[in-house]
Amino acid sequence: MATKVLVVGSGVIGLRTALELLNRGIRVHLISPRHPLHPSTCSMGAGGLWMPFHCDDSRTDRWSLETLHELTKLSSEKSSPGGTLVETLPAIIFNRNLQSVPSWATDASSNSLDFQNLSIDDLYNKSKSQRFRLPGKEVMKEAGYSHAWLFQTKIVDSPKMLTHMLDEIKANEYTDHVDVETDVFYTNIEELVFVAKAHGCDGLVNCTGLGSKLLCDDASLIGARGILLHYDRASCVWEEKSRGSNSSDEDKTNTIQDPVITISEPPFGSETMPCYMIPRGDIIAVGGSYLEGDEERGIRASERKRVLENAQNMGINTEKSRCVSDWVGFRPYRQTARLEVDEKLSSLSGVTVVHSYGYGGSGWTVFVGVASDNAHLLETWRKYLVH
Ligand SMILES: Cc1cc2nc3c(=O)[nH]c(=O)nc-3n(C[C@H](O)[C@H](O)[C@H](O)COP(=O)(O)OP(=O)(O)OC[C@H]3O[C@@H](n4cnc5c(N)ncnc54)[C@H](O)[C@@H]3O)c2cc1C
Repeated sequence: MATKVLVVGSGVIGLRTALELLNRGIRVHLISPRHPLHPSTCSMGAGGLWMPFHCDDSRTDRWSLETLHELTKLSSEKSSPGGTLVETLPAIIFNRNLQSVPSWATDASSNSLDFQNLSIDDLYNKSKSQRFRLPGKEVMKEAGYSHAWLFQTKIVDSPKMLTHMLDEIKANEYTDHVDVETDVFYTNIEELVFVAKAHGCDGLVNCTGLGSKLLCDDASLIGARGILLHYDRASCVWEEKSRGSNSSDEDKTNTIQDPVITISEPPFGSETMPCYMIPRGDIIAVGGSYLEGDEERGIRASERKRVLENAQNMGINTEKSRCVSDWVGFRPYRQTARLEVDEKLSSLSGVTVVHSYGYGGSGWTVFVGVASDNAHLLETWRKYLVH
């Protein structure tokens, strides 16, 4: 059967799905109301950190590890013309107690993470040779942080990667049509089936993120609001106490490393108000919040003050550093991500409809595995229909 698929949405899930289909020799018609770099695209502003976070699904670890594998390959490649797409950085998660190792770090395929569950003393000892830029050791101990997870993770420069993927799609010989600025927000999935048929598509993948709330009348999908302040990375000024191990016996032959830092326990952070910093491309993204159902589009004065304090707690001198922009985004959270064939609609319409949304705070952590499953579902469901 000749196949042509309408992909709707140009965030990380839609773009990667389009590429996955094209690489399998399937023609693609890609549409989206807003350009991937428009601030309303959740994928554009995201931190780009590989680490499963609020994506509840039994498939999350598998999707994440498939993505990690691909990001590991990309990080060892030479930069693309647009600059480095994927960077390897140490990630440090401060904990108040010894926490068990997360499931995503126990699989053999996660070896590249070099995951370590350390006491605070061991972390700062390691920092003598590896020179992580950490908050002062005594400050962290006094605040009650006694342990830390340390692992080597990947950071995707999300705007650059979206641009790179869009360029690849446009250049692919199997691409039928690309319009990522249609300005049309569809309000029900049947409309999209109509569009698919009008363009001769026998498949449709719905990658509209939070847009699926209305599009699929899915009340279980909620926006989990997050806020970020972006500091210019090159000119960022650090408090002197935040340099490496803070001690005179550090190994000065190595350069200082900007790590990812996350604190989700008090006093510096909490589940809904995590304190974190992600060095991403030209910026250091400082957050943040995870507030389900909060629809405020701007940053409240009290929130800005708190994120500034987060930046200071992690060692950024906020008076001397340049905050270049800020961003508010809404993670498409669902109790279980929705990656499935819409069997009823597919049978009725003759167009195979795959829904793929609800990846919460992990879109950049799962996108490779998710796109592969999207394509696989389209292929297997077709076989099922044919036989
Ligand atoms: C503050 C913050 C930080 C984050 N940090 C990270 C991180 O470090 N690592 C990580 O893995 N994840 C992170 N995330 C989560 C990640 O950004 C999301 O999981 C991911 O962007 C979801 O991608 P998506 O393609 O499903 O949705 P989106 O990127 O939102 O794309 C949806 C697409 O659908 C289109 N669309 C919407 N409505 C309609 C409609 N009605 N009709 C047609 N098209 C429509 C949109 O225009 C857009 O093109 C973060 C999120 C936030 C808010």
